[in-house]
Amino acid sequence: MDNGQLILHPDDPAYSTAPATLSKALAETGFIGDAFGKPEEQRFLAGERFLQLITFMGCSPHIELEPQPDGSLNFCHIRIHGPLDQPLVLWGRNTTAPRCPACRKRITDWRGRIGEWERLAEAPFPCPHCHEAIAPVHLDWRRQAGSGRIFVAVQQVFPGEAVPVPELMETLAHVSHGEWGHFYLLQENDD
Ligand SMILES: [Zn+2]
Repeated sequence: MDNGQLILHPDDPAYSTAPATLSKALAETGFIGDAFGKPEEQRFLAGERFLQLITFMGCSPHIELEPQPDGSLNFCHIRIHGPLDQPLVLWGRNTTAPRCPACRKRITDWRGRIGEWERLAEAPFPCPHCHEAIAPVHLDWRRQAGSGRIFVAVQQVFPGEAVPVPELMETLAHVSHGEWGHFYLLQENDD
């Protein structure tokens, strides 16, 4: 089964903080509720203002926000991923060729490079089109992948199905003193 995620990440790929700093701010604004799961992989139920802070598209989709009786993680909840020692590029089955930030051309052989980009996300390489040195963290993935050292992942949201409202992004920006963006991932469910 596929696992869709809406992922919020800082624009500055080097930024990191303690997960508790983010979870405190997200709890205060009502985005997250009770914590559950293992301490090293902390997850949170949707908070009481979750549906005001994320706008779901389309005609009143059914969003399952309650834990499942079978204990599965196939319901909408939030996970804070990180902090990692260095930036990581997260990508999924929905990811397509990124654009060079300098010349805007697509790097079509990205699949052959992604293994190296994931691990060496800050190591510049020459753009195959304009030869400008670019680091993978600065590629334009058009919201189909993204990078960072810490991520707020909303589980069971599928690509384009929902968008964060400005208030939520401002809450995160207030914590990190820098803007945040969002992207979507579609992956095999490894839970
Ligand atoms: Zn280029």
